[in-house]
Amino acid sequence: MESSVVVIGGSVAGIRVCQALRSEGFMGEITILSEELGLPYDLPPLSKTYLSGDQERTDFQLLSDADLVSLKLNLMRGVTAIAINPRERQVVCSEGRTIQYKTLVIACGARPIAAPWDKVEGVTQFRTIGEANLVRRRIEQKRAVVVIGGGFIGSEVASTARACGVPATIIERQPTLLYTAIGPKFCTYIQGLHVAAGVTVLCNTSVESVAKDAGRDGIIVSLSGGRKVSAGVVVSGIGVRPNTAWLETSGIPINQGILCDEFGGVLGFPDIYAIGDVSLWFHPSRMIHTSYGHWTRATETAGVVAHNIARPKEKIPYNAVPFFWTWQHGKFIQVVGRWSATDREIAIKGETHGKVKFAALYENQGKITCGAAVDWPDKVPWLRAAHAQNKSIDECVEYLRSNCDHAVVEDQSSQPAK
Ligand SMILES: Cc1cc2nc3c(=O)[nH]c(=O)nc-3n(C[C@H](O)[C@H](O)[C@H](O)COP(=O)(O)OP(=O)(O)OC[C@H]3O[C@@H](n4cnc5c(N)ncnc54)[C@H](O)[C@@H]3O)c2cc1C
Repeated sequence: MESSVVVIGGSVAGIRVCQALRSEGFMGEITILSEELGLPYDLPPLSKTYLSGDQERTDFQLLSDADLVSLKLNLMRGVTAIAINPRERQVVCSEGRTIQYKTLVIACGARPIAAPWDKVEGVTQFRTIGEANLVRRRIEQKRAVVVIGGGFIGSEVASTARACGVPATIIERQPTLLYTAIGPKFCTYIQGLHVAAGVTVLCNTSVESVAKDAGRDGIIVSLSGGRKVSAGVVVSGIGVRPNTAWLETSGIPINQGILCDEFGGVLGFPDIYAIGDVSLWFHPSRMIHTSYGHWTRATETAGVVAHNIARPKEKIPYNAVPFFWTWQHGKFIQVVGRWSATDREIAIKGETHGKVKFAALYENQGKITCGAAVDWPDKVPWLRAAHAQNKSIDECVEYLRSNCDHAVVEDQSSQPAK
């Protein structure tokens, strides 16, 4: 079979690149290889409104059968790419078929890291709608949820479980939730939301074993220190890795993601692009390869690559400031930039028109590196632009402070070192 553009992966990056190619006026054939059998859907609602039962799959499908027809997209469902042969411009599929491409876009995302307890009945990872279905059913049955790993997705699952009136426990081996993602004041604030909502947060705690239990809940999780927690379902959320194992024999450059130039082209392979969570793009001003497993980056890199395929003589680079959001306990949390453990942290607690505001800004060499805000969506676009313009931390602090009726600024550097 011949096809002009072949896209591997039918999630947000894969579908957005196809839609953007058509908007750019690309008229060639487009084929999408999608491992899943159903129509493509978005992931963020899985741990939020889908898990709580407030939305159904059709509410967050990325496209419909009618869209496939109108955009002339050939979606091959239930087909997994198992290898690429760049010299022959071929993709080898699970059922042995090969597909010819002129341009290939790899958008196969990330996969959860496997854990020793994954095979126990009632334990699940959390990346697909099938996995979300298991947890949703158990929440409907009011069975206790235990989450192993206090990252963003695990924290969202616990938050949704509590909102549904179900007991929820998070087990985290680091000293706080979100420990490697953002600074300590912000982590403490988020952890406080969980505790206030009744989530049992067990930090500095690791899992010794997970086993079936004859009791009502069905699973028993044994922890360091001898504590045991019973669960109706266990979500294993210890992180994700770019989904590159299947590319090992392809010769494609991989180092914690597929290495691309600033235009999304895979290094050394002029006809192959990579986008979204599987890709690691060269950042022209930071002069390093970077990747962030965030929805906005997946859609933005898809748009850039569509442009670069459709207009190869007018290629544009991607150098946007990272951005992601999360909902926890009814709070809208947004983060711009990237936090590093060596950054100075400045927390701003404010009030405007009677509403409580909280943000943490991070600084290195006088410039903002990262900003995290709770329920402050009207100020976050300014912060993202300020980061892109390399604004000083003082200007950013002053901006947020001046937008509050009252504000207290806590600067890490003015506190005695511990
Ligand atoms: C539960 C959940 C909640 C999230 N919430 C947020 C949020 O609130 N905010 C935020 O910024 N980000 C969020 N994210 C992250 C965001 O959804 C991801 O960054 C985004 O989905 C990445 O898109 P992608 O298309 O690159 O990869 P993926 O979404 O991982 O999709 C890759 C697709 O490729 C398919 N595939 C893989 N290998 C193959 C193969 N060999 N052949 C064919 N198909 C293949 C997979 O089945 C999958 O459908 C969330 C993620 C999850 C799991």
